[in-house]
Amino acid sequence: MAKTFDLKDDSVVVVIGSGAGGGTLANELAQIGVDVVCLEAGERLSITDLRDYSQADSMLGRLTWLDKRIGTGDLHAALPLFVCKTVGGTTVQWAGATLRFQEHEFKTRTVYGDIEGANLLDWPLSLRDLEPFYNEAEDKMGVTGTHGIPRLPGNNNYRVLEAGARRIGYQSVHTGNMAINSEPRDNRPACRQIGFCTGGCAIGAKWSTLYTEIPKAEATGHFELRPNSMALRLTHGSQGCIDGVIYADNAGNHFEQKTRAVCVAGNSVETPRLLLNSESYEFPQGLANTSGQVGRNFMRHTTGTVYAIMPGRVSFERGTQMAGVVTDESAFDPRRGFVGGYEIETLPGFGLVNLATNLSPSAWGSDYAQILEKYEYFAGLWLVGEDLPQASNGVTLHPTERDQHGLSVPMIHFIDHPNDVAMRTHAFRSGRAIYESLSAESVFELPPGPSTHNMGTCRQSEKPRDGVCNAYGQCHDIPNLFISDGSQFTSSSAENPTLTIVALAIRQARYLADRLRRGEM
Ligand SMILES: Cc1cc2nc3c(=O)[nH]c(=O)nc-3n(C[C@H](O)[C@H](O)[C@H](O)COP(=O)(O)OP(=O)(O)OC[C@H]3O[C@@H](n4cnc5c(N)ncnc54)[C@H](O)[C@@H]3O)c2cc1C
Ligand code: SF4
Repeated sequence: MAKTFDLKDDSVVVVIGSGAGGGTLANELAQIGVDVVCLEAGERLSITDLRDYSQADSMLGRLTWLDKRIGTGDLHAALPLFVCKTVGGTTVQWAGATLRFQEHEFKTRTVYGDIEGANLLDWPLSLRDLEPFYNEAEDKMGVTGTHGIPRLPGNNNYRVLEAGARRIGYQSVHTGNMAINSEPRDNRPACRQIGFCTGGCAIGAKWSTLYTEIPKAEATGHFELRPNSMALRLTHGSQGCIDGVIYADNAGNHFEQKTRAVCVAGNSVETPRLLLNSESYEFPQGLANTSGQVGRNFMRHTTGTVYAIMPGRVSFERGTQMAGVVTDESAFDPRRGFVGGYEIETLPGFGLVNLATNLSPSAWGSDYAQILEKYEYFAGLWLVGEDLPQASNGVTLHPTERDQHGLSVPMIHFIDHPNDVAMRTHAFRSGRAIYESLSAESVFELPPGPSTHNMGTCRQSEKPRDGVCNAYGQCHDIPNLFISDGSQFTSSSAENPTLTIVALAIRQARYLADRLRRGEM
């Protein structure tokens, strides 16, 4: 029942991006009966294209966003972000960890106070406002440990984490809330513990909009997906409302889709980039940017990885990659020397050569050989904590460099706040203690890699002067323009972001559909 809409049909809502935010929003709108055109820059793969054997590298090349970006500060210069360009967005590669924000994490300005260098702000919504939508999101995604859905079994890497964590006194340790089927659900099978979650789950046990939200939206007859369609620019009429989206196909042909409302969910670099690239005579600073906050306050979580060589064989590549979490350090406890908290989650090595090269960058000598020989004895964990928004961390446009579409290349700048550094130091100490309590032979601490959790560049605010959009993601300046991804986050929290992106998308869909029904746009 896939539908096609005319380019001149201005009754459609255009959703840009088909990942966690865009894919969910588009389906929710289509289910209500709203006509949606979804523009997605990447190609459409089917689940049978996802390979969990022998082709992992080529899969990464095929899925990853590799258009030119420039990272500065603490970021990798050529690959500042690790995100997807494909139908389903980064939900094709994500690991599936799905935790809710805690109450205080919506009120960081109030709870943490005035912290020098940080641009803290309370969200215009609370945990209570979002709770019903968290419930719906968890049910939709089949999150283990919620709605009576059993938790996944722990692999060996988890067993090591759990034993060490309990030995040093942690109490909240389990295999996590995971959007991965622990039993058949929603016409998808249970996880087979194959261990390639971040290469794309070849059996569809892991929730991804590629094979959940998108086909469900198509089945309504209210939805058209246009893959290989890169949104270049939003246009507006004399009243300042968005009336069209100019986009390009892979051959460089340009089209304009007329529209009633536009929802941007391109992940936290492409979303502000599109608004900035859409500047006009009326909006010389870019769209929705009278506050000057578009592109600012980029957050990516304070992360770090700890690997250890254990006395016994672990085989940490086997089993669900991130089904294991210690939540004891996620609470707000400034006595530790920092505000905010962090989670400790299981992580494998992503291949022998990759791990050995990461831990021994010279890739030579006895250290390197030891890592190769001991691969089966490695255990690993990832530290993920709240980083603080800073006005100078963010996305701007390169003054001269252009991409294949002639668009200004995005420059992404990020440096740690001293609070982030203090948290990482504490978290490394905790990770090390977990493994040393079990007599680890060696422990390695790795700094953050390219950013995977991207947030904050078009943040929600109560007052228009402090941010870009309101509690529904609706832009303060332009009522028919919505921010529908992690860009709208006002704070980052200690939790992985995707469950909150999905909950916000469901909430936004109801709000937008209601406004459309009342003829307000
Ligand atoms: C390896 C890895 C593991 C992860 N694990 C977890 C996890 O366990 N838990 C968790 O919560 N999160 C995890 N994440 C993060 C998670 O994937 C993201 O938070 C989530 O997918 C973001 O959703 P989004 O809708 O903002 O963007 P995306 O899902 O990235 O979707 C954005 C889409 O927009 C498209 N797009 C961008 N610009 C344009 C344009 N101009 N025109 C048309 N299309 C455009 C892109 O091609 C892309 O498909 C992980 C990420 C990675 C890389
Ligand atoms: S471990 Fe489970 S979720 Fe991960 S790729 Fe394998 S089947 Fe899919």
